[in-house]
Amino acid sequence: MITLALSKGRIFDETMPLLAAAGITVLEDPEKSRKLILPTNQDDVRVVLVRATDVPTYVQYGGADLGVTGLDTLLEHSADWGASSGAALYQPLDLRIARCRMSVAVPDGFDYAGAVRQGSRLRVATKYVAIAREFFANKGVHVDLIKLYGSMELAPLTGLADAIVDLVSTGNTLKANRLVEVERIMDISSRLVVNQAALKLKQARIRTIIDAFAGAIRPE
Ligand code: AMP
Repeated sequence: MITLALSKGRIFDETMPLLAAAGITVLEDPEKSRKLILPTNQDDVRVVLVRATDVPTYVQYGGADLGVTGLDTLLEHSADWGASSGAALYQPLDLRIARCRMSVAVPDGFDYAGAVRQGSRLRVATKYVAIAREFFANKGVHVDLIKLYGSMELAPLTGLADAIVDLVSTGNTLKANRLVEVERIMDISSRLVVNQAALKLKQARIRTIIDAFAGAIRPE
């Protein structure tokens, strides 16, 4: 049996065409079913639905053989787990799906460049603490990082933070909250991750899936 870990929503939806290229069709709609394990048209392939942040954990510990996860989630996971995650997680493909960017945003009118120039200490709210820490450390900017689990855009509006680090796609969420993007930290897309031991044990089947995914990735 091959188990693929996916999160509901954009990653699930955008992985379906890649699975189709491997001849795999998921037989139930995750938005309509309450099942967490979904069968496919292939008897030896199933999909498990997990929280986005749990995908690397499932694959690292062999709860799933493969998974699809955002680079943001993967970097935060690696920071939490260190070398042990790298040893267990093979990352063969950038799938170029669920694309967006990780950015710094501040309230409209806040002089971010001035604050950085003057060496002010910035309060930054984010779910992506490891990415933010590394980014500001490399810039030599002193920050107090405030970890949040949701609605980061609320933090500067309530005085909790001067800035946020969050994912931006269309920019509509920032605009609706009168925030402006002042720096792009990195481009984000989803990656295929594979459990190293599973790759050895189920080499032929997993390789077929990796190759089919690779052939179906949209060009630039
Ligand atoms: P947007 O308004 O299109 O810029 O989308 C921004 C909101 O959607 C933010 O709250 C992000 O956390 C979330 N978001 C955008 N793109 C992604 C993605 N690829 N993966 C996860 N969350 C995303």
